[in-house]
Amino acid sequence: MVRISGPRARAMVHAIAGREPRPREATLAELRDGHGALIDRGIVILFAAPHSYTGEDVAELQAHGGPFVLRQLLARCVELGARLAEPGEFTRRAFLNGRLDLAQAESVADLIDASSVEAARSAARSLAGDFSRRVHALVDGLIRLRAHVEACIDFPEEEIDPADRASQRAQLAALRAELDELFAQARQGAVLRDGLTVVLMGRPNVGKSSLLNRLAGDDVAIVTPIAGTTRDHVRATLSLEGVPIHLIDTAGLREATDDIERIGIERTWSAAQRAGAALYVVDGESGEPEPHLDRLPSRIPIARVVNKIDLTGASPGRSRDGLHTVLHLSALTGAGVDGLREWLLEAAGWKPAGEGLFMARARHLAALRDASKHLQSAVSEWQAFELMAEELRLAQESLSALTGEFHADELLGAIFSTFCIGK
Ligand code: GDP
Repeated sequence: MVRISGPRARAMVHAIAGREPRPREATLAELRDGHGALIDRGIVILFAAPHSYTGEDVAELQAHGGPFVLRQLLARCVELGARLAEPGEFTRRAFLNGRLDLAQAESVADLIDASSVEAARSAARSLAGDFSRRVHALVDGLIRLRAHVEACIDFPEEEIDPADRASQRAQLAALRAELDELFAQARQGAVLRDGLTVVLMGRPNVGKSSLLNRLAGDDVAIVTPIAGTTRDHVRATLSLEGVPIHLIDTAGLREATDDIERIGIERTWSAAQRAGAALYVVDGESGEPEPHLDRLPSRIPIARVVNKIDLTGASPGRSRDGLHTVLHLSALTGAGVDGLREWLLEAAGWKPAGEGLFMARARHLAALRDASKHLQSAVSEWQAFELMAEELRLAQESLSALTGEFHADELLGAIFSTFCIGK
């Protein structure tokens, strides 16, 4: 399908299809090039502004497919004055024309990139505006409270009705509770979107591949890596309850023999530095020290996986050895592997919450965190109306940035450049 958006879309479709179709009606037409030669017979649909995806006139030309036919159609459009769309440009226009807010626009890309049913569902919920509505409700609440507080600025505390003060206190507490809840849900959405990157370590033959297959083979599926990101060091991405778990294999982390290998190894290490958790697998209780362990950031959860308990007779389960969690399991029989799954989900910060999650990005979490910080300060400035009002204003500004009421062009550039062309 070729999609054209803008004020000249109607004229273009007229030129190509020989007539202007009635809006929103699928119309069979002969699509012709500049010399009147037939390119294809196809369907044309016109969406008249403002009732279209972008809010502008939009025409869609549906042909039989195949790169050559589509290329001819595109070339004809360009000949008629169109230019090729930039990545995400349709969605960007939809945002600029007020059809979607920024959080919704981002969820279009998240929906397309979703790697599990759960992730797709929460992106669809954000796209439908559930997340934005919650944010707007918070902003409205903040505006009301600001009005109250600002009305008090010119009066000394003792002249203010204690009932008003109590009402302000209650409003502020309710806003903080709602913000906390929204953050918790958004945080889960972010886990669904970004998942957890796990470094997998261990000497040869301890059973890393077997463990991977065991994890991937049962009720989890291997999913494709997120489009557009380089994950060449990732050995596999698993989906646990919809949470993507990206496993980075350290098997390749030996002494490099040439430059290309060295670059690859450095890349893998820098990815490992950003990992969210690490597993080091040992064979039975032999437990030799793991040479790479000290190169990992100490803040991340690390589990020592004692594999092959079917040979040693140890029982499956979790214990601790001071610093780390120890998981006893058998990749061969599957005993104890559920415990590993639970540990991975915990390390990802996943709390099974069921429905009601929103797809959220790091940007959203940062804005919510910021707003929460300002509300906290508003509580501390309780006695100083002016300062309190200012903190409330800042909280409102952070929230408004989420839906794009305040935005910088660079932010839009960064967001839409990660979209695919044609979206
Ligand atoms: P890797 O080199 O760490 O990836 O190890 P592999 O997964 O290739 O396993 C090495 C050998 O150990 C293979 O022969 C596996 O069948 C065997 N193995 C792996 N896990 C277990 C286990 O839990 N129990 C037993 N008995 N053998 C295992």
